[in-house]
Amino acid sequence: MTYDYIIVGAGLYGATFAYKAKKEGKKCLVIDRRPHIGGNIYCENIEGINVHKYGAHIFHTSNKEVWDFVNSIVEFNRYTNSPVANYKGDYFNLPFNMNTFYQMWGVKTPAEAKAKIEEQKQEALQSMKDAGINEPRNLEEQAILLIGKDIYEKLIKGYTEKQWGRPATEIPAFIIKRLPVRFVYDNNYFNDKYQGIPVGGYNKLIEGLLDGVEVQCDIDFLSNKEYYEGIADKILFTGAIDEFFDYKFGKLAYRTINFEHEVHDISNYQGNAVINYTEAEVPYTRIIEHKHFEMFGEEVDKISKTIISKEYSSEWKEGMEPYYPINDTENNTLYEKYKELADKTPQYIFGGRLAEYKYYDMAPIVEKVLNIFK
Ligand code: UDP
Repeated sequence: MTYDYIIVGAGLYGATFAYKAKKEGKKCLVIDRRPHIGGNIYCENIEGINVHKYGAHIFHTSNKEVWDFVNSIVEFNRYTNSPVANYKGDYFNLPFNMNTFYQMWGVKTPAEAKAKIEEQKQEALQSMKDAGINEPRNLEEQAILLIGKDIYEKLIKGYTEKQWGRPATEIPAFIIKRLPVRFVYDNNYFNDKYQGIPVGGYNKLIEGLLDGVEVQCDIDFLSNKEYYEGIADKILFTGAIDEFFDYKFGKLAYRTINFEHEVHDISNYQGNAVINYTEAEVPYTRIIEHKHFEMFGEEVDKISKTIISKEYSSEWKEGMEPYYPINDTENNTLYEKYKELADKTPQYIFGGRLAEYKYYDMAPIVEKVLNIFK
């Protein structure tokens, strides 16, 4: 065989896999249908600013092995994600913490905040009980139980329904559990021990992982599948699993994002990397100001321009880039059918957000690949 592994997709899964396989002396070829490596963490440098072309990515983990691994490829900075929510012009800190509770209700102590949330939670529990429901069945019920109806209505409902394009009553409950709730004045969006952005941007991470590995861009694997199957011992496929099997059981649903990138002639547009627009009436979900991921304090003014991206979420259709799997029961059941086929395809390994149809963050992807090579 010409190659031990052909790796389809030069995103974080594929690049980490190639790095580890190469360390074991395996011969790898990485191919990608896009004109660049990096998958959705790819950045384009515009006006000296790394623009996250496929949406903002913040690396966070509590796994020291994963953190040490990525830092062995490139040093990470001290970026701490602390998005702000804009609801009809009022600003609230995220995630839900004492700052948010003060802004929402004027409560100042954890006891006051807990009492307020408890009161709203009891009301929600009572109406669930009246309807004969024991467990939250969807994101709306889960969110109200977690944080109460005021925060749900102002900071969750509109944003969630824009992002997922469905009523919150039709969205799986687990999604809202991504967000911490805390009774301290702490705006750090993540609970993880380690967090940051690669110094010099994400391309440095991918370039480091793929250093010395044969890479070909602008290559469409699926239209040349038999050829590649003939020259590789194993193939790692990180693309969409339903597309791989020619949608034979039907299409899985994904959300896609369209970005409106704007260059502004000011050094600082919104004072933060991420501002979420949580009301239903604003058509975009958030505005990202990219320089704040890598420039802090006075450094922000060293570049007189700034680049912002407005994110518009919509349902994925063929020909678009799939971003988020929609892990509701219907789609998960359909995925299981594809997974059964995948398990009967011994030459292949299927991995990553698209091939496993799972809402993975970056760190769990790295962890998965490190574990494969243990
Ligand atoms: N979310 C919300 N309001 C916000 C931010 C997030 O209701 O201001 C909810 C929403 O349901 C979203 C989920 O939390 O789908 C996860 O958000 P996160 O920011 O983790 O998503 P990602 O950055 O992966 O798009």
